[in-house]
Amino acid sequence: MEAVVFQAPGKVKVEWVDDPMPGSDEVLISVKAAGLCGTDLHIYQGEFPASFPLIPGHEFAGEVISVGEGVTHITPGDRVCVDPNIPCRRCTPCKRNRENLCQNLRAYGVHLPGGFAKLVSVKAENVYSIGDLTYEEGAMIEPLACVLHGIEILGIHPGDKVLIFGAGPIGLLLAQVCKVSGAGEVLSVDLFQARLDFAKEIGVEGTYLSGPGLPKELQQRYPDGLDAVIDATGVPQVVERLSGYVKDGGKILYFGVCPEDSEVKLDPFDIYRRELKIFGTFSLLVNFIPAIELVKKGMVDVKSIVSHKLALKEFHKAMDLIRNKTDSKKILLLPGD
Ligand SMILES: [Zn+2]
Ligand SMILES: [Zn+2]
Repeated sequence: MEAVVFQAPGKVKVEWVDDPMPGSDEVLISVKAAGLCGTDLHIYQGEFPASFPLIPGHEFAGEVISVGEGVTHITPGDRVCVDPNIPCRRCTPCKRNRENLCQNLRAYGVHLPGGFAKLVSVKAENVYSIGDLTYEEGAMIEPLACVLHGIEILGIHPGDKVLIFGAGPIGLLLAQVCKVSGAGEVLSVDLFQARLDFAKEIGVEGTYLSGPGLPKELQQRYPDGLDAVIDATGVPQVVERLSGYVKDGGKILYFGVCPEDSEVKLDPFDIYRRELKIFGTFSLLVNFIPAIELVKKGMVDVKSIVSHKLALKEFHKAMDLIRNKTDSKKILLLPGD
């Protein structure tokens, strides 16, 4: 079959590899849509722990082709998306229902062959039916599930004013989930006006171009600060300044992935005196079913976040697009084409 292969950090080829053989507890899926995300770029650049050679792609949906003999609840023809995470279920975090913090966590598209291929074989327990959703919507369920996990940790209360740094695909999903969670006002900050214009289209109340005048502009409009501030940039210089925008007693969520050894300056007296709460969020926990439900009910629009659909052999173009943030939102690969 045709697949994208990261042979080693910095080395990628679209090539022919052997078809996967599903084990007795696995299902074979014909991948119809797979999302490219910042993590894939980090893996490619050797900045994220992964196993090489690797078929990447951890956000994907497709049609079940065949099932192993031990699989009873899934049948060929089913339309599904896949939770890429494989916790060990033996370590302490796993035993405490914190599988996302598993000490031996592996994932399809990171340690095991993923969705940037015509076919992929995955454990049946990782598969979720998407019903009538399109495969393109199905490929957006994994990032939406991660966003739901983050917002659960942050805790949005009715009427909250929320400021989100970054209006890329994740920032746009965060904004929508804040809204459906009851936020009264959601604001986006980004470097690019085109991305802010789109954030407005999907329902964000206020947009602000990032720049030296931003703190003053927001201070004038929201003198007490915002109830919650979320980083969806992964840029340490942005993360460092989040506490300047939040109200006393307010909450900060680190969603964006900063480089592994980056450091930021924090003022512990300020955090103490103002009772600031800072939260981290990693991956997802039990968020696939609610994510599918939100898309089915039309409460979160994932479709209009997709800007490009490309064939597997156009992977290099997809990488260029994700690096050049001005021209793209979510990029999907359609291996079935
Ligand atoms: Zn991702
Ligand atoms: Zn574990």
